[in-house]
Amino acid sequence: MPTIRQLSTSVINKIAAGEVVERPASVVKELLENALDAGATRVDVTVEKGGAELIRVTDNGCGIAADQLSLAVSSHATSKIVDADDLFRIETLGFRGEALASIAEISRLVLRSRCADCESGAELEVVGGRAEPIRPAGCPHGTSVEVRQLFYNTPVRHKFLRTSQTEMGHITEAVSRLALGNPKVHFALTHGNRLVHDLPPVENLRDRVAVLFGEPIADCLIPIDSDHEEIRLHGFVANPTQSRGNNRMQYLFLNGRYIRDRSLQHALGEAYRGLLLTGRYPICFLHLELPPSLVDVNVHPTKLEVRFQDGGRIYSQLLGSLRTTFLTTDLVARGAIAHPAAGDSQDEVAQSTPASSELFDWAKRQLGQPDGGNAQATDELRLHPFQQFDSDDRGPTSSAGETVFRADGPAVPAPHTSYRALQIHNRYLVVENEEGLEVIDQHALHERILYELLREKVLSGVLESQRLLVPEPVDLSSQEAAAVLENRELLGRLGLELEPFGGETVLVSAYPAMLANFSPSEVLRSLAEQLEHEGKQPEPRDLLDDLMHMIACKAAIKFGDRLTPEEVESLLAQRHLAQDHHHCPHGRPTALVFTRDQLDRQFKRV
Ligand code: ADP
Ligand code: MG
Repeated sequence: MPTIRQLSTSVINKIAAGEVVERPASVVKELLENALDAGATRVDVTVEKGGAELIRVTDNGCGIAADQLSLAVSSHATSKIVDADDLFRIETLGFRGEALASIAEISRLVLRSRCADCESGAELEVVGGRAEPIRPAGCPHGTSVEVRQLFYNTPVRHKFLRTSQTEMGHITEAVSRLALGNPKVHFALTHGNRLVHDLPPVENLRDRVAVLFGEPIADCLIPIDSDHEEIRLHGFVANPTQSRGNNRMQYLFLNGRYIRDRSLQHALGEAYRGLLLTGRYPICFLHLELPPSLVDVNVHPTKLEVRFQDGGRIYSQLLGSLRTTFLTTDLVARGAIAHPAAGDSQDEVAQSTPASSELFDWAKRQLGQPDGGNAQATDELRLHPFQQFDSDDRGPTSSAGETVFRADGPAVPAPHTSYRALQIHNRYLVVENEEGLEVIDQHALHERILYELLREKVLSGVLESQRLLVPEPVDLSSQEAAAVLENRELLGRLGLELEPFGGETVLVSAYPAMLANFSPSEVLRSLAEQLEHEGKQPEPRDLLDDLMHMIACKAAIKFGDRLTPEEVESLLAQRHLAQDHHHCPHGRPTALVFTRDQLDRQFKRV
């Protein structure tokens, strides 16, 4: 029979250290949090060999009295809470009273401090959890914690240390997070004899972003500020011209604490839907402030994750305020000439250049044809969407030479502005305007226009659909058949009427006029594919939106289609129809603007 034993303090501390101290950056985070909790206005971090050799954090905070030093390094000893109720009114970053004890257990730690009203300071050394006697020490007001040889007595952990460069990357990130959470505090980070960051106090979060990430990011920040029943959300999100391939540039703070929250990340993604390419993530620096009683931070030892009492409300507030802001913001892709910051160049170039072949491939995939259809079909397709949008009975425009990019009847007269425009490489339209010049992705713009038209029609319930004299049977896979039949009502709103026909066959009795150039079976298959792609239980609104994107993309002129000058002119004349004509529904920019000033500067004419 196994014997049950009480574990020693040392083992308990090692277990706690296992949770809290994953790597040197964790130590930096904990020590910085203590400094901030102590009210420091300046914190200096010195690191050697990526933190494996030394981490020293010095602050000018309230300090610790000499007779409290040993308590500070004991486990479950804290000045931040007293009883269990305090757990629901936490206003400090720490409260578990574990960090110093854990770190002291697995390193050689020196805690040196002098409190505000003390004549002199004192220091305490702890080696692998064993405390030496307290000694007097000459030191300024505040606290300094020195951690040497982290993991020296936990060989397994020590083995997991990465190169000093990698560990330094994590440390820099930890410092950045706390610096973004506390712009009014001065932070300095030194590695060896190199000053990595010197961040003087700033009034505005934007200025801190500028120092940490550079002006190109700071320049494209859109301010957010919303206050709703005790919940305040403020800070910045980046214009969609700046994005990342992952969500690591999403800085969310809850009452000054950096957090990761999947639901809020999702809200962010939703707000940028249609503004960013698939696989791109928005950048944000957002502070959430709410009464501590509305959130539980005691969920995770590192407090990276928290639990909101009413997560739904916060989700809606975030999504709502971003959407409102975007509606009133000009999100044009500007300054494509600007050289991307070194190091991220691949990334930035890829995003500011419309990914043409990708777009074409995608369109072809949706067509379900290897070559996107034969020449004649392509030609007709180009004429088609506009013909079908004629709500009066003027009949379709028939010859290819005529203006085919006609707006939706007389209701929306196209303004007769004269553009100097040129189609190049059967892909882009180059247009002179007052500001300078614009390069437009013809497919992306047309797709956006069609999408807006389609949305308007779907929302107002007046979408034209083409009724078939003889309903057409379409054979699908069993999953596809199930998917389309489950969403019959939704597809009906898009002008696609379906009937089950037994087995895997579905009868199409009507389908969107906009897609009259594609066969009903082809349209249905593409829609089924899209539905399957959505996975389980998409929101009907999102699904409808995705299907509209798909239809618009399918119906739009292709990248590579040759246009007559009249077609070009007509397409441009319809730009005003697209609410946000600077981005196609997939979030690619539809237009890049090169201002005359930029051109002059590039040619060194200033
Ligand atoms: P916690 O921060 O969860 O209370 P720690 O182990 O990190 O636990 O710290 C224990 C205690 O030591 C703190 O509650 C605080 O009173 C004191 N302390 C730690 N670091 C500092 C500091 N830099 N300045 C002042 N007091 C500190
Ligand atoms: Mg702490």
